[in-house]
Amino acid sequence: MAGKDCVLAIDQGTTSSRAMVFDRRGAVIATSQYEFTQYFPSDGYVEHDPDEIWKTTLKAAQDVVTKVRTENYNVTSIGITNQRETSVVWDKKSGEVIHNAIVWQDRRTAPVCRRLTADGCGDMVQAKTGLLLDPYFSATKAAWIIDNVRGARKRAEAGELAFGTIDSFLIWRLTGGKVHATDATNASRTSLFNIETQNWDEELLTLFRVPASMLPEVKDCAADFGATDASLFGKSIPILGVAGDQQAAAIGQCCFHEGSIKSTYGTGCFVLVNTGNKILRSQNRLLSTVAYRLNGKPSYALEGSIFVAGAAVQWLRDGIQIIDSAPESEALAETVRPGHGVYMVPAFTGLGAPYWDPDARAAVLGMTRATGRAELASATLESICYQTYDLLAAMERDGVKPNALRVDGGMVANNWMNQFLANVLNLPVERPKVMETTALGAAYLAALQTGVTMKDIESNWSLDRKFTPEPFDSSKLLAGWHKAVECVRSFS
Ligand code: ADP
Repeated sequence: MAGKDCVLAIDQGTTSSRAMVFDRRGAVIATSQYEFTQYFPSDGYVEHDPDEIWKTTLKAAQDVVTKVRTENYNVTSIGITNQRETSVVWDKKSGEVIHNAIVWQDRRTAPVCRRLTADGCGDMVQAKTGLLLDPYFSATKAAWIIDNVRGARKRAEAGELAFGTIDSFLIWRLTGGKVHATDATNASRTSLFNIETQNWDEELLTLFRVPASMLPEVKDCAADFGATDASLFGKSIPILGVAGDQQAAAIGQCCFHEGSIKSTYGTGCFVLVNTGNKILRSQNRLLSTVAYRLNGKPSYALEGSIFVAGAAVQWLRDGIQIIDSAPESEALAETVRPGHGVYMVPAFTGLGAPYWDPDARAAVLGMTRATGRAELASATLESICYQTYDLLAAMERDGVKPNALRVDGGMVANNWMNQFLANVLNLPVERPKVMETTALGAAYLAALQTGVTMKDIESNWSLDRKFTPEPFDSSKLLAGWHKAVECVRSFS
């Protein structure tokens, strides 16, 4: 890239749509962000309005493009990263969506997944996709939409409807309906994509009852995804990079070598470890997934996904309103004595890895008359660390033993949590200077298409702070946590 060239990263997250512009050294030069509405129409249902996602994304992108232009920067390309699995179905002709997006956290298709499990389909699905039979993934969500919107299945079978994860939907809108594409990482989260052959899989399409004509073309993460309609940004800009948010974060954290690992703490928490060109098949209910695909070559990852991390802090703020802002949880936790005996199991939308229990619901256990806001705040932050412990323990049983954990996401501004995490894991926790690794990863992918190398990217990573484990006896605390998880699971 030339001196004032820069990359626009679109980061379409679960609670907000963000746009960031990065200069050629990976420094942020402009950001804009808009929250959008979360819909909870019924127990376990979570929806977004795709039109609101589009409007907030476009507005954020237009804000930053306008801003950097006044500073004589030239936006040369776009990278997109997105909340994964969230599913949208739209009309190929009009571009209109036919239903709200069904969000990754949504549990409405749990009965279908239970039936398919009872029918003995789990092994085949896991062998082909690396995923488990769980409502988390897109296939059952797409089928639900076409089965529940009047006339939709017929239209889908006639080739009139398109399915896409949020990246596809945004690419479609950004290119004025010219391109229906996705990348291999997003495809790998649908349960319809064979991660070994790197193709949509007939047997899976039949099993989940999703017509092939609805599906986007699957491309590498750094590829030509078309160019934006000239009316949107005053000129047409090529879209050159796409990856799901957790994979983008792994790229932003430079997890390019076998064994390198990162954990992102946003709405949920996601640990990804690079397993190189091998698919590591978990014996411990973790997911095998595509880390990235470049020049037609997939690199794989082992992933642990927790549905609720920062969302539990949001619940403290908006649900029971015991804090005014998320950072207040840190000040409160600092006032609490260790070993207070209160446990929070944040199973608001079921439990993810390694439990995969869609019916579990959240609870606070072990309260006394001395329990107050501080204990609740601290128990909430601790629960996120305990859940990370469970993921790393499962990874270790699968043969992965990291020697440090790179962290990122909105929650890792919380120093108290990072230190507790290092103590519980007995592992150094490293926080990079640029915490917006997800957007950075998307920008890096686009930059790879314009001549930047993986080596250039690696030399950009720099440490903000390392949290070293302190002498700490975690065994009693972990025993209490596991008892609390058991209680929650036996209640459902
Ligand atoms: P997402 O990309 O999933 O929308 P972010 O990475 O922006 O999420 O992180 C936002 C989440 O982090 C919110 O759920 C918020 O409650 C939580 N959060 C932000 N700052 C803090 C903090 N200082 N302490 C604890 N949680 C925080």
